[in-house]
Amino acid sequence: MKLRFYNAKILTMENENIIEGELRTDGVKISYVGAEKADGETFDREIDLGGNLIIPGFKNAHTHTAMTFLRSFADDLPLNDWLYNQVFPHEAKLTEEAIYVFTQLGNMEYLTSGITSCFDMYFKLPSFAKANTDMGFRAVICGSINDFGGTVEGCEEEYNTYNSFDPLISYQLGFHAEYTTKRETLEGMAALAQKLKAPLFAHNSETKAEVDGCLDRYKMTPTQLFDKLGMFEYGGGGFHCVWFDEKDMEIFRDKGLWMVTNPASNLKLASGIAPICEMRKHGMKNFAIGTDGAASNNCLDMFREMFLVAGLQKVRENDAAACPAFDVLEMATKGGALAMGLKDCDVLAAGKLADLAVIDLQKPNMQPEHNIMKNIVYAGSKQNVKMTVVNGKILYEDGKFATVDEREIYQRANKLAREICS
Ligand SMILES: [Zn+2]
Repeated sequence: MKLRFYNAKILTMENENIIEGELRTDGVKISYVGAEKADGETFDREIDLGGNLIIPGFKNAHTHTAMTFLRSFADDLPLNDWLYNQVFPHEAKLTEEAIYVFTQLGNMEYLTSGITSCFDMYFKLPSFAKANTDMGFRAVICGSINDFGGTVEGCEEEYNTYNSFDPLISYQLGFHAEYTTKRETLEGMAALAQKLKAPLFAHNSETKAEVDGCLDRYKMTPTQLFDKLGMFEYGGGGFHCVWFDEKDMEIFRDKGLWMVTNPASNLKLASGIAPICEMRKHGMKNFAIGTDGAASNNCLDMFREMFLVAGLQKVRENDAAACPAFDVLEMATKGGALAMGLKDCDVLAAGKLADLAVIDLQKPNMQPEHNIMKNIVYAGSKQNVKMTVVNGKILYEDGKFATVDEREIYQRANKLAREICS
C-alpha cells in the first residue's frame, strides 16, 4: 500500500532537525522525505497529518515478548526466588499456542507504544515467528541457549533458518547468561560466532550476585570471560550491563559492542542503575533500550523506559545535564535498530524501510512546542501514539489494530494464563 503523509513534521533522527513536509512510501520502503509536495504520483492512501510528527519507530532492543503470560503474577519477590520458583516452572508449561497468543499480545502492546520491532529472547521459535509474520510485526530473534535447553548445533540451524525465513524475521546469535550456561557451551558459542562471523549477545552483569558468582567461578567478570573466550570478534553486546567495571567498559568500547539498558526491570528487581554516563566517558558509543519481559517490568512501553534512562542517569551522576533527551531518543530508535542488525530501520530517509510512528502533538502534554524532542522524552506517553507502521503497513491507528482481533487475543490470553498458572 503506497502511503503519502503530508502536512507533517518529520524527525528523521539523522540529526536533531525537524523537517516540515511529506513522507511517502512505495509500499514497503520510504520513497521520499522532504519539503516538496507530491506531483502527479498516485497513492493508495493520502493522510493529512495536520502538523503531527513522524518519527522512526522505537526499537525494543531486549525483551521476552511472550512473558506477557506472567504479567503481575509474581511480583514483589527477590530476583532468585522470582526466577527459579515463579518464572522457570511456569515457563515449562508454555505450549506452542500459548507462545503464539502471548507474543501477539506483547506485539499489540508494542504497537500502542510506537515500537516497530523487538529483539526477542525466548523459545518455541516456530510459534513465535508465525505470531509475528501473521501480524506483520518485525522481530529479531536472539538465541537463548542455556543449560536447560538448546545445543550449539541447534543455534547454527536456527541462525540459518530464521535469517532466510521471512522479510520480517531475522536472527542473531545469543545465549541466556553466564550463570545459566556451562563453560563448554560458552566455548561452543564463541566458536560458532567466529565460524559464522556473527555478533553474539547475552544477559550480562544484570545483578551484583551474577558478577560475584562469575568472579568465584572464573576469577573474571562475565564481560572479561566472554572476551577471553573470543565471543566478540564480530561484535554483539549485552543486555542490562548494570555492574560493569572499567575493564568491562573498555572491552565494550574496543569491540564496538552494544549496551542494551533495561531501566524499569532493573528498578523493579532491585538490580541497580546502569552506569551509562560513565560508559560514555570511557568511550563506549553504542547504546540501545529494551523493556525486558512483562514478568519483570511489567509494561512494554518505550516512553516510560526513555524517561527512566534519562532520570536515572541524572540522579546517578548528580547532574541534571547528564543524558540529554536527544541521546535517549537516539538510543530508542537508531541505536536499537543498529544493535539488532536492522540497518534499514534506523532513520527516516528514502530507501529505508517504512517502520515509523506518528506522534499526536495535538494533546495537552505535547504543548507548547518549545522542543518537541524533550516533550517526547520527558512528557510523552503512549497516548500520543496515533499510528504505528511496520514494513510500510499501518498496523495500529487511532487505538485500533489492523491485523489482529483484539478481543479474541484477550480472551485466549486469559484462558491460557489460567491454565498455565493454576
Ligand atoms: Zn532479559
